[in-house]
Amino acid sequence: MAGVDFGPRATKELLRQYGVIAKKQLGQNFLIDARVLDGIVAAVNADDHTVALEVGPGLGALTTQLAERARQVVAIEKDETLRPLLGGVLAGQGNVELVFADCLKVDIETLVSPFLQEDDDLVFAANLPYYVTTPILFAVLESKLPLRRAVVMVQREVADRMVAAPGGKDYGVLSVGVQYRGAVQRLFVVPPSAFLPQPGVESAVVLIDCEHRPPLRAPDEETFFRVVRAAFSTRRKTLENALAGGLGIAKLEAADLIRRAGLNPSARAEALSIEDFVRLAEQMGP
Ligand code: SAM
Repeated sequence: MAGVDFGPRATKELLRQYGVIAKKQLGQNFLIDARVLDGIVAAVNADDHTVALEVGPGLGALTTQLAERARQVVAIEKDETLRPLLGGVLAGQGNVELVFADCLKVDIETLVSPFLQEDDDLVFAANLPYYVTTPILFAVLESKLPLRRAVVMVQREVADRMVAAPGGKDYGVLSVGVQYRGAVQRLFVVPPSAFLPQPGVESAVVLIDCEHRPPLRAPDEETFFRVVRAAFSTRRKTLENALAGGLGIAKLEAADLIRRAGLNPSARAEALSIEDFVRLAEQMGP
């Protein structure tokens, strides 16, 4: 069904027609603002070499737009009751693989890989459910999929943490985790009025450009994230105390590790750059 209208009136009618009531517990706030949708679609920048992975297609507002531009769309939706509605909205879109599952319980790689051809552009596009934004984001970013970019709508505060630079209160595990995987940019802020039902908070659309990741790589990602989590485990403490507590090692050992990485044991985690964390992980060894 190309060119489906997802404005406020048409969306209410669609919900009524299929007897669907938005489920708060699944973070169902459906996008009803065409300009916001256009902004996301422009950032996704899909063409006939694009495979788009969408989590939470909902009523299909973004899915239909992706299907019109990308070669293939793989959309994973947890809410089985949306099956008849999505089947109707996406009728005739032969390039959409709809999977009804909890995206945190399926192997995303196995679902997407069969559709990937050489030279394809894999893009993750989603208006993420607020209650589970970070786990979904990391499930996709940490997969072995050759992701080129991600365009995600998240709560505005989460967007601020994703783009935060060292030194500020927003800089933490989320900032380091996302920025380690790509160049992160907040594209625009979205008011509650862009959704049905309206959420109680503002949202923002964020672009993660995975082709422009920081050049420094940790030899072992698991160790890298263990160090990052330990460093931020307690914000008031110095780096040596945070690492000693978070990694379960002696304070002297932590101080030695920090010095070998060329850092000051009395520094605070929020002052460290991604490269500093990589150097710390290098000193830890696997
Ligand atoms: N993409 C639609 C839009 O923009 O209007 C809906 C976005 S709504 C904010 C989030 C969607 O994610 C809902 O359809 C919800 O059912 C779905 N969802 C929530 N948790 C999920 C999960 N764990 N796995 C897959 N989908 C999920």
